Amino acid sequence: MKKNFFTWLFILSLSVASIAQNNQSVRLDSILPVRGFCISAPQPAVVAEFIKFIDEELSVRKVNTLILRVDYNYQYESHPELRDSIALSKQDVKRLVAACRRNNIRIIPQVNLLGHQSWAGTIGNLLREYPEFDETPLVRMPEKYVWPNADGLYCKSYCPMHPGVHNVVFDVVDEFCDVFEADAFHAGMDEVFYIGEMQCPRCSGRDPAELFAGEVRKIHDHLSLNGRKLWIWGDRLIDGKTTGLGEWEASYNNTWRAVDLIPKDVVICDWHYERPDQTPVYFAMKGFGVVTCPWRMPGNAVLQVQDMVKFREHSTPEMRDRFLGMVQTIWSGAGQFLDSYYGRRKEDGNNTPVNCFKALYGEIMTMAK
Ligand SMILES: [Zn+2]
Repeated sequence: MKKNFFTWLFILSLSVASIAQNNQSVRLDSILPVRGFCISAPQPAVVAEFIKFIDEELSVRKVNTLILRVDYNYQYESHPELRDSIALSKQDVKRLVAACRRNNIRIIPQVNLLGHQSWAGTIGNLLREYPEFDETPLVRMPEKYVWPNADGLYCKSYCPMHPGVHNVVFDVVDEFCDVFEADAFHAGMDEVFYIGEMQCPRCSGRDPAELFAGEVRKIHDHLSLNGRKLWIWGDRLIDGKTTGLGEWEASYNNTWRAVDLIPKDVVICDWHYERPDQTPVYFAMKGFGVVTCPWRMPGNAVLQVQDMVKFREHSTPEMRDRFLGMVQTIWSGAGQFLDSYYGRRKEDGNNTPVNCFKALYGEIMTMAK
């Protein structure tokens, strides 16, 4: 009898703890359905520590979405020529998938499509192997990259009108989404500076907004064949001059009218790192689901999450569900981030991605109480 009493007491206390946890999760899901973290996929040697980070740090903060920028850091079987020299194996990826699954985290893997096909003086794997896809073949990669430069070279783009490009990139996207068991894919598509270039025989004279929207739609429609959703960065859909947001986090090259030409179920990752801009309202009013993405300023991240919660509270039911949540973006490699996070690498000042991540999730947990 006594034993029974203590057994029941133990079960009751477990149940109370579990109800409290469930209440917190329900509250979190209602104020902020997407609680994300975006980072480069780890190198193979860093996978184990990254999994520890998922198990111990992302889980405790109730992160439920992990955008992993993989690009060619995977041993693709469909296109081995595109692999990085050191790349994740299928087994590495499955370990990451399992870690996310046991922590209720949705993985959204990313390969940069359209833009970001080079970085500084280095050509990306796609254009290295398929130079015929280059939108600006006459722009040579410089030995020493400087910005600004006479070619206006920030990153190379592929030509969205090349008849062969989608056969290759969709092979990669399909294999990639299969191995990550993903129901959504992030195509990047930020900071596309080269589009509709005069030197491209297929694109010259075409409307950049229609070219950009056409590429978004093509990727969207391909993904939907397998029931997958498309996520992209939002900068090409904002008018840079009218808003004063400039040519990086918004568009100076007339792509922004694509905001009215693309499918409404594309999710927009709206990144603003210098100010808590109110652009999520613009995207939600256009009919898109939107997440706000801070990077390294803790003060702004706190304001941005407060804004996001307020947008949801002060909206019609139609608008409310489009304000999806927050995604912390990290722009170093996973290894470098973990060095900073675990104190092996010293950083100056308060404005660091590690501090921003902690402040953002500190505020989220406070708001969920
Ligand atoms: Zn072209």
